[in-house]
Amino acid sequence: MTPPLSSEGDGFLSTTSKRFELRHGIGRMLRDPETGKGPAVCGCGRSGHEVEAVTITRRDSGAIGVGGVFRCDSAWLCPSCAPRQTLDRQSRVKDAVSALYAQDGTAVMVTLTVQHRAGDRLADLKRIVQTAGRKARQGAPWARMQKRAGVIGVLVAPEVTHGRHGWHFHLHLLVLCLAQSNSTAAEAGEFLIQRYMKYVEAEGATAKRLGQDVQVATSPENAADYVAKGLAWELAGRSGKVSRSAKGRAPFEIAASAMTGQPRDYALWREYAETMAGTRSCVVTAAMAEQLGIEPADDSAQDEGEQELAADGVEVGILSPGTWNGLMRLGQAAALIRKVEADQPWPEVAAWARRTANPPEPAPPPPPPVRPSERDIRDAAAVQRGSTAARLGWAVDALRRSTGSRRLFELDATVVTALIKVR
Ligand SMILES: [Zn+2]
Repeated sequence: MTPPLSSEGDGFLSTTSKRFELRHGIGRMLRDPETGKGPAVCGCGRSGHEVEAVTITRRDSGAIGVGGVFRCDSAWLCPSCAPRQTLDRQSRVKDAVSALYAQDGTAVMVTLTVQHRAGDRLADLKRIVQTAGRKARQGAPWARMQKRAGVIGVLVAPEVTHGRHGWHFHLHLLVLCLAQSNSTAAEAGEFLIQRYMKYVEAEGATAKRLGQDVQVATSPENAADYVAKGLAWELAGRSGKVSRSAKGRAPFEIAASAMTGQPRDYALWREYAETMAGTRSCVVTAAMAEQLGIEPADDSAQDEGEQELAADGVEVGILSPGTWNGLMRLGQAAALIRKVEADQPWPEVAAWARRTANPPEPAPPPPPPVRPSERDIRDAAAVQRGSTAARLGWAVDALRRSTGSRRLFELDATVVTALIKVR
């Protein structure tokens, strides 16, 4: 189930421990400080009550897996789950395009963007692009083109980056055509772009033709990569250097920077999380699936999450759910995985985990002070009245109590005077 991406590349999310670390920070940033609640990503990686053990595994690639924990399946918010979600999308797009090509069809790759500048709200850009993109694929003119080019459906993948000119929200579309020729298929893509630009204008924004793109896919892999590669994930997870291209930073790069205390990036990450959580991508509708002879597929599991009972690979060791969740709570799960990645012997790692997750009990509190007896109170009253005998008796009692001794005391005059004075 879990993709074998972990040990590839040297990006800042290239290992399981790095992703756990960022996921922990993201959970902290998105959790409401008052209620302690937040989106599903906040609980990702914790072990459920019904689980008997958390299993740490090592795959052939060397990547570390964790079984017996909750997976949030959030493609947009969770660096631990995004790779798997990306692979899921890629494989269902590949299935769809392969089925299309088996019927001599053609997939046309279309990019839709909108002009934007620093300060534009991501929610506004998303609304404009998605509305115009949807309207472009509605109405009689599009129905006519659909028929001419044999369009059986369109796969849509939203993508977001942030650069010098603010948020960059765009759609990668895959127009699935059963056209007679590539040129008719490309024509359908161009027609879609022209209609899209018109509807962007109707939304009060601008989309220049130069910002849009249309290309005929050369293979199912080419098409799958184009729409489902998950630009955000690829940039952040696979490339060695932090991207500073015209398209700007990927969301997980913003989150990583926000974690280091950049207030502007913290605000950007929150805005991104609020806007993008739950946004569906690469949906194979029932109508599309029927024409292609495949199963419909969606992101429906996304943001609901599931319990992952087994991780792929060879078992390295197991921990009790209590110990694992203790590490999660303390933000130390990434540290444990780092130790396993560094090949530390498991008994050492397990001992460290138990020590860290279950710190020794604090020293017991001191016993409550002894309550004065009735007689103490009576004698104290006598002291107030100035009876020397009473004061002396009370002082000796106090001395006995403080030394815990019942034996008799031999007191000389100096001690007696001192005792009476002290009291
Ligand atoms: Zn997750």
